[in-house]
Amino acid sequence: MALANSEWLKGHRIYQRIGIARFPLGATLAVFGALWLFGALAAVPSIVGSGLIAAAILFYRGDVSVAPADHAIVDREPAAVPFPLLEAILRGMPQPAMALDVHSEVIAANAPAMLLAPAIRLRAPISLALRVPEVLDAVRRAIAEDLPQRVEFVERVPIERWYRATAVPIALPTRSLQPPIRLILVSFDDLTPLRRVEEMRADFIANASHELRTPLASLSGFIETLQGPARDDPAARTKFLAIMQAQANRMARLIDDLLSLSRIELNAHLRPNVRVALQNIIRQVVDGLQTLARDRQVEIRVAAPAEPIDVLGDRDELLRVFENLIENAVKYAASGKRIDVMLSLDLAQDEAKVAVRDYGPGIAPEHLPRLTERFYRVDVVDSRAQGGTGLGLALAKHILNRHGGRLTIASVPGAGATFSAHLPLVTGRDP
Ligand code: ADP
Repeated sequence: MALANSEWLKGHRIYQRIGIARFPLGATLAVFGALWLFGALAAVPSIVGSGLIAAAILFYRGDVSVAPADHAIVDREPAAVPFPLLEAILRGMPQPAMALDVHSEVIAANAPAMLLAPAIRLRAPISLALRVPEVLDAVRRAIAEDLPQRVEFVERVPIERWYRATAVPIALPTRSLQPPIRLILVSFDDLTPLRRVEEMRADFIANASHELRTPLASLSGFIETLQGPARDDPAARTKFLAIMQAQANRMARLIDDLLSLSRIELNAHLRPNVRVALQNIIRQVVDGLQTLARDRQVEIRVAAPAEPIDVLGDRDELLRVFENLIENAVKYAASGKRIDVMLSLDLAQDEAKVAVRDYGPGIAPEHLPRLTERFYRVDVVDSRAQGGTGLGLALAKHILNRHGGRLTIASVPGAGATFSAHLPLVTGRDP
C-alpha cells in the first residue's frame, strides 16, 4: 500500500504507462493463474499467454496521459499536449510569439508578446488583448483555410512602429490515437528599423538628386544664354563661364562627398590602425586654408602641446575632418575674425581632443542635434553661396565614429561655436 501510494512509484514511467490499464491487466493475470491452479491449463502456455496479454496492455498507448492537469490546453481539448515543450520553444523565440487554439484563445505566449500586448491572458480570446483587425483577420483565415497568413500593420501609440504578423497553423501530434491538435502560431517581426532605413534612403536619394539638379539647371541656363542672346558678348561670356566653372566645381564636390560617405560607411566596421601624429595633420590643414582665411580676413591660431599626440587613424580621412571643421569656421564665422584650433589631451577619457572655436554668429540650439544629418543646413542659401554641399559635418561624424571617436558641438548664439573632434589615444597595446 505504502509502495502503491509512494510519489516515487507514481512518478515512474511504467506506473504511468499502466495507468487505468492496470485493472484489466490484473484481472487477466488472475484468470490465467486460476486456470493453471485448477489444472485447466498447462504451466508453460498459461505463463506465455498471460505474458503476451500483459505486454499488449502495457504497450497499448490509448489510455496513457502523462500531462499534468495544469498543462492541459483548454477544457475543450483535455488531451495530452507537450505544453512545456511548446512554452520552451516560444520562450526561445526572440520575437513576440504566441500559440492560439482554433477558437483564437491564447494557450501560450512568450515575454516579448506580453510586452507587445500586455493585456494577454491565457485561455482568453486574443481579440481582448490585441485590437489589431488585420491580425485578428489573419488568425481567422489561418484557422479557416489551414494556411499561413502574413499581414503588416502599424502601431501609432506610444511611438509609430511597423510590424509584420505571421499566423501559421500547426498540428501538434498527441500521444494517443486521437487526431493531432491544431494550433495557430502567431509571431511578430518589428519592421520599424527597416522602414526607417528605407525612408532615409529615399530621402537621401531625393536630396542628392535635388542638390545635383540645382547646379545642373544653372549650367544649362548659362549654356543656352551663351548660345543665344550672349553669343557675341565677350564680357558676358567671361562672367558666365566663371559662374559655370563654380557650379561645375560644386557638382564635383558633391559627387566627391557622396562617394566619400559611401566609402566610409562601407568601411565603418574597420578601425584604422596606422599611427598618425595629430599636430602634423592640423598644421597641414591650417596651412592649406590660409589663402581662404586671408580672403575672409580671419586669423587662425593653433594651440597644441609640444610633445606629439598620436592616434590610430586614416590620415586622409582625418585631414578631411579638420578641413571641414576649420573651413566651416572660416566660411560661416568670418565675422568673428578669429578661429582657435586647440589640441589637448583628456587623460581621464584616454582621448585626444581637437576643438575648433570660432567667434561668429553661433548656432541656435534647435539646430545643434541635426547638424550632422546629411544635407542639413541652418541656412541653405548661405551654405550654397559658400559652395557647401551640406555633407561636411555628416562626413566628419562618420569618419570620427569609424576611428572610435565622436564629434561634439557647442554654441551660444551670438557668441560663436565650438566643434570638437574626440579621438581615442594610442595605448601601449596598439601597434
Ligand atoms: P555645408 O556644406 O553646408 O557647410 P556642413 O555639413 O559642413 O555643410 O555644415 C552644415 C551646416 O552647419 C552649415 O550649412 C551651416 O549652416 C552650419 N555650420 C557649420 N559650421 C558652422 C559654424 N562654424 N558656424 C555657424 N554655422 C555653422
